[in-house]
Amino acid sequence: MQYFQQYIGGSFSDGSAQFDSIDPANGKVWAKMPEARADDVNAAVEAADAAFSAPEWAGLTASARGKLLLKLAELISDNAGRLAELETRDTGKIIRETSAQIAYVAEYYRYYAGLADKIEGAHLPIDKPDMEVWLRREPIGVVAALVPWNSQLFLSAVKIGPALAAGCTVVLKASEEGPAPMLEFARIFDQAGFPPGVLNVITGFGPDCGAVLTSHPKVAHVAFTGGPETARHVVRNSAENLASTSLELGGKSPFIVFEDADIESAVNAQVSGIFAASGQSCVAGSRLIVSNQIKDAFLTRLKEKAEAVVIGPPDNMATEVGPLCTPAQVAYAEKLVKASEDTGAKVVTGGRALDREGFYFPPTIIDCANAPDAPCLAQEFFGPVLSVLGFDTEVEALQIANDTAFGLASGVFTKDLTRAHRMIRGIRAGIVWVNTYRAVSPIAPFGGHGLSGHGREGGLQAALDYTKVKAVWLRTSDEPIPDPFVMR
Ligand code: NAD
Repeated sequence: MQYFQQYIGGSFSDGSAQFDSIDPANGKVWAKMPEARADDVNAAVEAADAAFSAPEWAGLTASARGKLLLKLAELISDNAGRLAELETRDTGKIIRETSAQIAYVAEYYRYYAGLADKIEGAHLPIDKPDMEVWLRREPIGVVAALVPWNSQLFLSAVKIGPALAAGCTVVLKASEEGPAPMLEFARIFDQAGFPPGVLNVITGFGPDCGAVLTSHPKVAHVAFTGGPETARHVVRNSAENLASTSLELGGKSPFIVFEDADIESAVNAQVSGIFAASGQSCVAGSRLIVSNQIKDAFLTRLKEKAEAVVIGPPDNMATEVGPLCTPAQVAYAEKLVKASEDTGAKVVTGGRALDREGFYFPPTIIDCANAPDAPCLAQEFFGPVLSVLGFDTEVEALQIANDTAFGLASGVFTKDLTRAHRMIRGIRAGIVWVNTYRAVSPIAPFGGHGLSGHGREGGLQAALDYTKVKAVWLRTSDEPIPDPFVMR
């Protein structure tokens, strides 16, 4: 049994309570996690608030903040193997993916390290001869960052990196499912040399921990990644203090394949888009919209690939699809497949949980040709389940693609350049990948609209979103101020 601790004000401690963490590969308890309740949350926010104005942090130059972030990036690189093992153990995400992803997480911190001293204010050409007016960009304050279980190190890096680059302080609430990598990350962060309280890492459950954090009066901004239903709670909580929010929520992303596409490439991208990370990815390309001219051939090839996927323990480098994170996810996937079949949708492959130890659900394809109202076309699975519709015309493809309340990612496969541009313009989503899928970079903004949320993570804008603008007016005249009853 392993024991983990929370990180508040630069010290490690047990939470108010403890809870079990379960290994998704076998369903057995493997670790005890600290459970933060109201007292812990309050202590974490107070520590972040004190650190925000303490000279050890507030008095640092932006370049010095950048150097600390760079040191953190190096430490993450040095410890990437251990972090990957923990993420795999606690969430069931395959080691092949966690190893590659965590090595890349260091690049996000490097990017924001470099950006720290490039967050510039501005000088305004003001319309008054005796005034100098300029804008200062100042850190927004204490940030509450909340992440779901999948890819916690990555999803927290896109919040912690820009927030610290801007000079904010952070309380990070790890998911109660699989928090081990974040609690270990706190130990690595502690070695980087940041002043105490700049980052605090806690974990716990929605009502006792997440709700207390997001409604705390000293929190200035809530950066949330998770499901739309939880996001509604978060917005209601933060409304009490009028804190700003950025919301990265789920998706039901269209993956559109035209008849002229490179089929082998599109099939591989579709496999990556829906079966990688066992489909537990917000950008999963979960709606295949394929030209009727190639639909049968495409589905035949995709089925072959889906059935050849290596399903197994997540800590084995050969495994391609591991377990889902929780038994509830498996039950939800089975229920949604069944409800879709009841509306006339046809399961091409998969569809039922695997009869083995652990929370395994196989790659699943559902043809919805005769079931346009199937729930699998509208609801997010967060599992390896693909819903399929055919189309005859480009207009129809676009109409199906936009027939969703979400708007996060999308993919278009075609060799026709002008058609690709028309699709790029027409698709309502925050990301359009053309002839590729599931590519990310710290340099490119990431986010959606509609039920997929608002705000962008990654890129320069994300750092600016952790700042507030202060307008400064300086009068340069030595003459007495004229008529005090007239606004100048
Ligand atoms: P979730 O919404 O259940 O939980 C997310 C976080 O919110 C957890 O830390 C949880 O403890 C916390 N929380 C729960 N109730 C709360 C409350 N009342 N107040 C405050 N916090 C509360 O999400 P999940 O089920 O763990 O993750 C899956 C969801 O995350 C999917 O919908 C997925 O699409 C989404 N997601 C989005 C992105 C993105 O970047 N757009 C990335 C990954 C996952």
